[in-house]
Amino acid sequence: MTDTDSCDVIIIGGGAAGLMCAITAGQRGRRVIVMEHTDRICRKVRISGGGRCNFTNIHTAADRYLSENPHFARSALARYTPEDFIRMVRSHGIAFHEKKLGQLFCDGTAQEIITLLRTECGRAGVRIITGCQLRELTNNGGFKLRTSQGTFTAQSLVVATGGLSVPSAGATDLGYRIARQFGIRVAACRPGLVPLTLAPADLSVFKPLSGVALPTTVRFNGTRFEESILFTHRGLSGPAVLQISSYWKPGQPLTIDLAPGQDLPAWLAANGARKTLLKNALAEILPARLAETLAQRYLTDKPMNRCTEKELRRAAELLAGFTLTPRGTEGYAKAEVTVGGVDTAELSSKTMETVKVPGLYFIGEVVDVTGHLGGYNFQWAWSSGHAAGRYA
Ligand SMILES: Cc1cc2nc3c(=O)[nH]c(=O)nc-3n(C[C@H](O)[C@H](O)[C@H](O)COP(=O)(O)OP(=O)(O)OC[C@H]3O[C@@H](n4cnc5c(N)ncnc54)[C@H](O)[C@@H]3O)c2cc1C
Repeated sequence: MTDTDSCDVIIIGGGAAGLMCAITAGQRGRRVIVMEHTDRICRKVRISGGGRCNFTNIHTAADRYLSENPHFARSALARYTPEDFIRMVRSHGIAFHEKKLGQLFCDGTAQEIITLLRTECGRAGVRIITGCQLRELTNNGGFKLRTSQGTFTAQSLVVATGGLSVPSAGATDLGYRIARQFGIRVAACRPGLVPLTLAPADLSVFKPLSGVALPTTVRFNGTRFEESILFTHRGLSGPAVLQISSYWKPGQPLTIDLAPGQDLPAWLAANGARKTLLKNALAEILPARLAETLAQRYLTDKPMNRCTEKELRRAAELLAGFTLTPRGTEGYAKAEVTVGGVDTAELSSKTMETVKVPGLYFIGEVVDVTGHLGGYNFQWAWSSGHAAGRYA
């Protein structure tokens, strides 16, 4: 290695977005170096989708993303679509299936997606350097990076360091620090797609239900998700809770319809003459342990035919609009993503280049664009990586 290596594009972060950007820029004939601080690329891809990588969602659209600017993602998503990535997956002979709700998973393992990215990087002449720590970054009409593996210069610098979630998979705050170094605003960050915790009083009621799951509609501030929730030994999880966690604000309650699609007043009226205990009747539409807990804690242990009309109405209201105020989240250690990040107002939605610093790009999760659960976050990584790769 010479004292200073020079190339056209340096990409910091060997994850999903960084490698897609590297492939796209490399295919244009740019000399590209990817710098990854851990000893291997794509650690999050490896653990994603329970090891099968939910690599895209066929229903991708800008309204599946949170951002201070809800329109920002539209351009990149339109110019590199789920179909574009699926074409690449097919060309590598990777078998996949739709699990539910447009979510595409590998039939085999996430390693197949990593092999795809590595192979395409190889074909595009991309150089990947692992175990490379940035020590100093300067910009004097070109970027100079002093690292643990030597000094590098490039015309373009792409920051693809991801979010703060799961530090054990390599997450750091370097991307946000680089933004601040160049006077670029970062929207406040918080864990997203994360299990929620309950205060001790609520936890003592619901912890015994740990492991119980049921279909629900969970609502917060006008946003709703119709999916399952799961009671855990710390609070609540399951797809509906993970989804709403990205929107939830501390101190505020969630509303949970525990029997979505059921006409509860009609059901209770039709069953009101039965001698069955209320908890046993409710167990016909809810998991039995939950029915018992709700009846004991909030309703009555009487049989249906001895319940007053008010008591039956109360049961219907409780099931349709159960409210719980989470105490907090399980934090970045358990979050799938980081909500917030580099302010999209600082970036071109077409190229992902910063307005203030020509040649500096931010892509992927480090940007204030956060997808819903279900393959949307990888699609944002592919689309934003591709957008920057066409111009860097
Ligand atoms: C457990 C889990 C499961 C998930 N499953 C899915 C799923 O199935 N589908 C889906 O769409 N999304 C999923 N996600 C979210 C998805 O993994 C991310 O949104 C996506 O990886 C973001 O891509 P990225 O390239 O921006 O960041 P990352 O993939 O996180 O890549 C960032 C890279 O930068 C490197 N880096 C960080 N700091 C530095 C530094 N200081 N110097 C150099 N390199 C650095 C990291 O080591 C990493 O390699 C999951 C996330 C988690 C945690």
